[in-house]
Amino acid sequence: MFECEYCGAQFLTEETINAHSCKEKTRFTELETTTGMQAFRCYQIWFKARGFRPPQKRGFVSSHLYNSFFRYVKYRRKMGIPDDKIYIGIMASEGILPQHWYNDDIYRYAIKKFDSDFDPKVHIRITLVTLDKLARKLDCEISEVFDYLRPSDAIKLIQSRNFSPWVLLLSQRFKKYLQEETTKEERMMISSAMNIKHWKLMFEIKKDKVSETKEYINQLNL
Ligand SMILES: [Zn+2]
Repeated sequence: MFECEYCGAQFLTEETINAHSCKEKTRFTELETTTGMQAFRCYQIWFKARGFRPPQKRGFVSSHLYNSFFRYVKYRRKMGIPDDKIYIGIMASEGILPQHWYNDDIYRYAIKKFDSDFDPKVHIRITLVTLDKLARKLDCEISEVFDYLRPSDAIKLIQSRNFSPWVLLLSQRFKKYLQEETTKEERMMISSAMNIKHWKLMFEIKKDKVSETKEYINQLNL
């Protein structure tokens, strides 16, 4: 007897087991792909975020949410979601189920939450990771990234919060960038990508954090 290691079905000959395919086998193979690995990782993050022990692959393969996680991974790639732990953490604390994570309204809601509920330190960390990646790509210093950045790229990075207004609006380099490297239309788009009114209000409320963050950004020569 030959047994399928994925679903447990039994076969009399090697030929028949080799010809056999099942959902489990297909899915286990999918988990070897980059998208599959990311989907499984996100599934585990979701469990941890709700205080559960992260499940094994077998649990994921038999989950009715399996396809939702693949769709989420594709969506987060399209939108450039910078940090799965943060996005999924927000989803978990708000009780939003995975089949809704790739909805544009939910996405916008998550950005709002991120802007208002997360410490500037988190915003700075993500922005620095982005600046570091760009600096490597452009072969320049972090402080020089704005000398080379295309406004259309800047807008996308702001929309997705790979660049946070917490850093940009307090950065002298970015101020100079807006004045010297962008058109009026681009500045309008940047301002709407940030929701600038919200930030002015936020900076009023969190004055102490503003001066702390400003000091740090100055030290980085940004
Ligand atoms: Zn099978």
